[in-house]
Amino acid sequence: PESSSPSAPGAFDGTAELRRRTLPLMSRHAAGYSPDSYALWYEYVRGGNPQLRADRDALVNTCERLSHQLTFEMHQKHLADRSEETTRKAGAGLLELMHTVRSSVEAASSDATEFDTQLAAFGEGIASAGSAQDMRQHVDTMRGDVDRMNRSLSTLYDQLEVSHRKVARLQNELKRARAEASLDPLSGILNRRGFDAEIRRICAAAAQDVSPFSVVMIDIDHFKRVNDTYGHPFGDQVIRAVGQVLSQLTQRKDLAARYGGEEFALLLPETAADGARDVAERLRSAIGRGHIKRGNGGAPVGNITVSAGVAQYVRGEDPMSLVARADRALYASKQSGRNRVTVDR
Ligand code: GH3
Ligand code: MG
Ligand code: MG
Repeated sequence: PESSSPSAPGAFDGTAELRRRTLPLMSRHAAGYSPDSYALWYEYVRGGNPQLRADRDALVNTCERLSHQLTFEMHQKHLADRSEETTRKAGAGLLELMHTVRSSVEAASSDATEFDTQLAAFGEGIASAGSAQDMRQHVDTMRGDVDRMNRSLSTLYDQLEVSHRKVARLQNELKRARAEASLDPLSGILNRRGFDAEIRRICAAAAQDVSPFSVVMIDIDHFKRVNDTYGHPFGDQVIRAVGQVLSQLTQRKDLAARYGGEEFALLLPETAADGARDVAERLRSAIGRGHIKRGNGGAPVGNITVSAGVAQYVRGEDPMSLVARADRALYASKQSGRNRVTVDR
């Protein structure tokens, strides 16, 4: 059987191992090398998404290779937009509001047309009024018409006001959904999707710029043991704590992300490899010093350490190759004993 056949759905597997299996599989299927494509194949190898797996298998059986378009569509369908539901709902809400507003305006404008006719009649009436009595009658009629018009307008304003508030609320919801889609709910830092978007953005900016830019990949050491010893929920707590250390100890322009499972990444703009190594070293030692405690105010759990790999962006390289180099350095840290930082030179 294919060595890269998917693992059982939901099974946890070494993510470094998953990454090592993803690229050869992509190359065997002549898959495009874009972040979307990589994310898709990685998720396929991870095997946690049966629908994606079924779709990909069906496609691979009918097509020679997954075209860019198909990859894009698969990515959209399976990975891209967790907030799609919210977006669709908000969109439908906006559409409905637009119809309400339009019919209120139409109603008001037909009232206005009628009012116009009434005004004209009033003008003629005044012009031909024979007596003060006649005149008073015309004025009374006119007063009634003006009252009606006022009521109609104030209804319109009320409706517009309500609509305006609804639109503002929906816009907020959309904004929140969009931001949430890029955050990891467990650790509160960027998730893989957010990371992909940011690294693409920063690489594009760095390609036009002389200032350096570095990436650090970080992986918790022997995390399987942590889960095995203390249980999975505690493992989650450790992941959350590491995420917090990363976001607390990095500076304003730096971005921390949970890359997957128990792996993290840092994006350090305006930072060369040596500076990035110092940042990684600081984090490594902070985590290793046992800042992570069990429960609220509980005793620190010993031996939570991380390994890291650093790579500095080389002008013109694509994000995937940058991540791959940092990952290779991380792998070297693991190979040479863990709880250390390696720089890709
Ligand atoms: P090392 O990285 O030092 O080589 O060893 P490791 O034990 O950390 O290596 P590996 O990458 O093989 O295992 C990672 C483990 O992380 C496997 C999986 O059970 C666990 N894991 C991945 N994601 C999560 C998660 O979200 N929560 C918890 N609790 N565990 C996770
Ligand atoms: Mg790992
Ligand atoms: Mg690990």
